[in-house]
Amino acid sequence: MFKKVLIANRGEIAIRIINALKELGIKSVAVYSEADRDCLHTQMADEAICIGPPHPMQSYLNITSILSAAEVTGAEAIHPGYGFLAENPKFAEICQECGLVFIGPSAEMMEKLGDKISARKIATQASVPILQGTLDPISDLKEAIKIAKKIKFPVILKAAAGGGGRGMRIVTSEEDFENVFLSASSEAEKAFGDGRLYLEKYLEEPRHVEIQILADTHKNIICFPERDCSIQRRHQKLIEESPSPAVTPSIRKKLMDCAEKLIKKVGYTGAATVEFLLDEDGNFYFMEVNTRIQVEHPVTEIITSTDIVKNQILIAQGENISYLKKKTDFHGHSIEFRVNAEDPQKFIPSVGKIETLRFPCGIGVRLDTHIYQGYNIPPFYDSLLAKLIVWGENRKEAISRSRRALSSFIIEGVKTSIPLYLKILEDESFVNGAFSTRYLERHIFF
Ligand code: ADP
Repeated sequence: MFKKVLIANRGEIAIRIINALKELGIKSVAVYSEADRDCLHTQMADEAICIGPPHPMQSYLNITSILSAAEVTGAEAIHPGYGFLAENPKFAEICQECGLVFIGPSAEMMEKLGDKISARKIATQASVPILQGTLDPISDLKEAIKIAKKIKFPVILKAAAGGGGRGMRIVTSEEDFENVFLSASSEAEKAFGDGRLYLEKYLEEPRHVEIQILADTHKNIICFPERDCSIQRRHQKLIEESPSPAVTPSIRKKLMDCAEKLIKKVGYTGAATVEFLLDEDGNFYFMEVNTRIQVEHPVTEIITSTDIVKNQILIAQGENISYLKKKTDFHGHSIEFRVNAEDPQKFIPSVGKIETLRFPCGIGVRLDTHIYQGYNIPPFYDSLLAKLIVWGENRKEAISRSRRALSSFIIEGVKTSIPLYLKILEDESFVNGAFSTRYLERHIFF
């Protein structure tokens, strides 16, 4: 059993991990930047160490500082959360070299699945359906255009190292191909130091569905029911729910089988999410694997009564998680709202001080957050303030409970996405579960 674990992250996910460690009787070490001295995660951990200036490159991405913090405090393992170093194989490798357990997959696994081109190849080898496109980085534009014409425009160019929607562009015609390619490649190069792109067929009205996996070192692979993350802005998730209103038991089974085949193929251990696009005819296609805990994991926890973060830690300790096999049945419906500090209309980040704060509470309501009244939101990190996760006996109850909870969630001093969610919850197509990833593009709420 670990005695002490360092959390290489901040904000709500750091607190989520601290809570899991507390319940397991493991001491926690928080790290924080100079801008996060007053952030709640620094106060909730058993120990907290400053790792540098506000800019992430100098603190939360600074491997040397984080490893020194682990050494000074005597931590035996590091939980990376999501974002920052969570999917950096070099970090996982260095942890191992320093005798620290990285709570996540091996560096090799991260490399294999983190590179989207390599993951596409593995999916094909595992007989998991992928969208038509290229299986190698595009090196010859003429050849790529030929493929795009064959599978028919629109196509989407995506960065092999992609994440956060960067380096991703839709191409609608042959004439645009070269320009779009050059701009996507240069964006990917800037963001990831890797400009390699591939292309795949662009689906016009897909849903984003994904399968949460937990795999241990004893060859147990647990697949949970799908999450639907179709409500997005600029290809980034805003609302997630489980189960998906579009997934039948037979599609669910196929999704789970495919996710399991892929994970088995590479002998993965740890938590992972296998993402798919689902078309209107019920066909689905593999998109990518995230080799870490995801922001939206709580909806799965709620409907399956499973603590995913705790199990991640137990897996890293070498425990057998076969007891979770019974847990993949689910009960009721759960919806998560990412409450961001941003203008709900234009999605421009809003920073400042939280002057007034009142949290929603009551039956079926969970809130994962690091904010408090008087908290100053630093401008250096992502805009996520809180995750409101609601449970209902069915989707209808989850929706009415979401309305009730969101309308009693008061945040004053900064703009938030709450007003947008209240409008979405009144919209007929959302209420009926009839939406695609282009839902927000198609609706004008303000
Ligand atoms: P990232 O890792 O950069 O977030 P993803 O590959 O996870 O990128 O895709 C993010 C979102 O982009 C998807 O949820 C979906 O909305 C959209 N998308 C990606 N690929 C396609 C595609 N081939 N067709 C239609 N939409 C797509």
